[in-house]
Amino acid sequence: PIHYPPDPTGSDRRPDFVLICLEDLTERRRAERMRADFVANASHELRTPLASLSGFIETLQGPARADEKARERFLGIMAEQAARMKRLIDDLLSLSRIEMKAHVRPEDRIDLAEIVNNVVDALAPLAQASDVKIEARFEVAPMPLCGDRDELTQVFSNLVENAVKYGRDGKRVEILAAPATGEGAHGAWTVAVRDFGPGIDPVHIPRLTERFYRADIDSSREKRGTGLGLAIVKHILARHRGRLSIESVPGQGSTFTVRLEAAERDADSKKPQKILE
Ligand code: ADP
Repeated sequence: PIHYPPDPTGSDRRPDFVLICLEDLTERRRAERMRADFVANASHELRTPLASLSGFIETLQGPARADEKARERFLGIMAEQAARMKRLIDDLLSLSRIEMKAHVRPEDRIDLAEIVNNVVDALAPLAQASDVKIEARFEVAPMPLCGDRDELTQVFSNLVENAVKYGRDGKRVEILAAPATGEGAHGAWTVAVRDFGPGIDPVHIPRLTERFYRADIDSSREKRGTGLGLAIVKHILARHRGRLSIESVPGQGSTFTVRLEAAERDADSKKPQKILE
C-alpha cells in the first residue's frame, strides 16, 4: 500500500500524482568498492616492506647487535625494503596526480619521436646491465602531437623498462614508431614496444592494466615491480585520448602498442608556401 504524506494544508484529499525518484546505485557502489579495494591493496603492499624493516630493526637492537657480518647483511636488506617503499609511494603519487588531471586535455605541442628517443637513451644503462639490446626505428620524424611531455615519457619508460625486465632472456627489444595504418588511422601515430621474452598467458592480458595486478607476483617482486606501471600507462593514455593494445605469444614475446592522435597542422603550415623566385 502507498502511504501518502499528510497534506500540509490539512485537507484529506488524495494527491493527483506521486513522483517517485529511483537512482541506479550500481555504478556508484562499484566505484566505492574499487576505491576500498585500492586502499586495502596499497596498505598491504606498503605493510610488507614495513614489517620486514621493523623486524630487522628489532634484530639489530637485540641479538645481532654485536655481529658485524649480520649487521652488514641486514642493513643491505633494509635499504632494499626502504627503496621498495619509495617506489610504491612514488607510483601511488603519480597515479593520484594523473587522476586529478583526468578531465583536462594536455595541450603542449611536443614531438613523440624525441620523447621515445630520450627514453631509449635514458634506459641504455639498464639495458646494458641486463644484456639487452634496444633497437629503435622511426618511420617518420618529427611526430608532432598535443600532450604532456613528462607523462608520455613515463608511458614509454614503463613499457620499455618492462620489456627489458621481463623480456631479458630474448636479449633484444624492438621499438617501431610509425604513422598508424588501417581504417580511421589518418592523423595518428603508433609506437610498438616488442620483446622476445617469455610472453604473457592470454588469461592475464585483459587485467594487466589494473592497479597491483601482476601475471607472476614473484617475478614482479624480484624485478622490483610495484604492479602499478601499466595502470599509470592506462591513465595517462586515457587523458591523451590514446590507446594501449597488448599482444603476446607465450614462449615468443610480447608487443605493447601505443596509439596517439597526431597534432593538427599549424594554421601557418596550412597556408600555401611562399614561392621564392
Ligand atoms: P610491475 O611493476 O609488476 O612490472 P606493471 O603494471 O608494469 O607492474 O606490469 C604488470 C604485470 O604485467 C607485471 O607484473 C608482469 O607480470 C606483466 N608484464 C608487463 N610487461 C611484460 C612483458 N613485457 N613481458 C611479460 N610480462 C609483462
